[in-house]
Amino acid sequence: MTDRNQELFDRAQRSIPGGVNSPVRAFRNVGGTPRFFARAQGSRLWDANGKEYIDYVGSWGPAILGHAHPDVIRAVQEKAALGLSFGAPTEIEVEMAETLCRLVPNLDMVRLVSSGTEATMSAIRLARGFTGRDAIVKFEGCYHGHADSLLVKAGSGLLTFGNPSSGGVPADFAKHTIVLPYNDVAALEEVFASRGGEIATVILEPVVGNMNLVMPSRAFLDALRALCTKHGSILIFDEVMTGFRVGPKGAQGLFGIDADLVTLGKVIGGGMPVGAFGGRREIMEKISPLGAVYQAGTLSGSPVAVAAGLETLRLISAPGFYENLAARTKQLTDGLAAAAKQHGVAFCAQAVGGMFGLYFTDARPSTYDQVMACDKARFNRFFHGMLDAGHYFAPASFEAGFVSAAHTEADVAATIAAADAVFATLG
Ligand code: PMP
Repeated sequence: MTDRNQELFDRAQRSIPGGVNSPVRAFRNVGGTPRFFARAQGSRLWDANGKEYIDYVGSWGPAILGHAHPDVIRAVQEKAALGLSFGAPTEIEVEMAETLCRLVPNLDMVRLVSSGTEATMSAIRLARGFTGRDAIVKFEGCYHGHADSLLVKAGSGLLTFGNPSSGGVPADFAKHTIVLPYNDVAALEEVFASRGGEIATVILEPVVGNMNLVMPSRAFLDALRALCTKHGSILIFDEVMTGFRVGPKGAQGLFGIDADLVTLGKVIGGGMPVGAFGGRREIMEKISPLGAVYQAGTLSGSPVAVAAGLETLRLISAPGFYENLAARTKQLTDGLAAAAKQHGVAFCAQAVGGMFGLYFTDARPSTYDQVMACDKARFNRFFHGMLDAGHYFAPASFEAGFVSAAHTEADVAATIAAADAVFATLG
């Protein structure tokens, strides 16, 4: 049988760099041929060969309801029929902004953009404009999209490619970015003690999903909030991944910490290109046309994209939604950990809301170095074993995974059974 995935990948590489439009898709880390997907429904994906997979990537987070939820598809189709974009205000974007301000803690005002990258890039500019300072603090292994000043020791594809930074980023830009180790309170205190008055903002993934999954310590979160307040720096929670994923109020709600600015993406677009950044009114009023900080977008607030996002937010507000999602995700991580133990494989896992981490090591990592020390070769064998058996995990050991509300108990049980057979070959 011809392998349509391979045919398409060969063809793609002639006209698209690396054959992909986003690097991690290329399977460089795990080797082999990327799957080209033709269709998705609920918890399932079908590739170009017609092979079916249970999906644990969920388009890297957006597909919290599962794929192609009928209500979301209907909302998109109805809006599309009325015109795709106007470059002028619409009622639905006001509804979206009101909904986000109601659901997300500490959001007085919000602006819509078309990706997570735009959200973080704009939030950083706003924090700099508001404070009149240049320096920003980020943490090693946190990925915030591909804006210049944030591509310093970033996670996700940059870890996969062993590339601490990126070509094309002037040293003059990167010098304003201070990179600290995640969960390191002493390093944070030290940098604020020496340079507190220069720091416009501290940005972090409040649960890191771009160096596998790393939880913040309580002491780290408390120190972040206290130091930013004391020194007049803006605390940005990058909730592009964690927003509506770790719980209904995101990481702010989960940990009871108030950020000054929050960035959102993924789930709020329900699979369409929507991002957002928002926060306290006095900060948000610095944005053009009210203030001097420029930010804009031809397709920002696209009515069709916003229709998908708004319908998604409506559906995930159903009572019990997050309890069920968290229970299903924990079923997966508990089941995988038990299967690995059975076969004597050094492995552990953890779930937070509908997000999970899998680690080929004995203890859950809480630092970048511990993540890097996990057994990548074993992960790659696990990944390919699961892929062959029809279970699609992220093609790199530095990525968190995602479960959707469409995953049934039987889906997850089938994945655990398949993993049991794969672990048996890894001991
Ligand atoms: N921030 C975080 C925490 C992310 O996980 C991502 C994407 N994985 C981004 C920002 C960038 O979002 P986008 O890919 O939509 O530009």
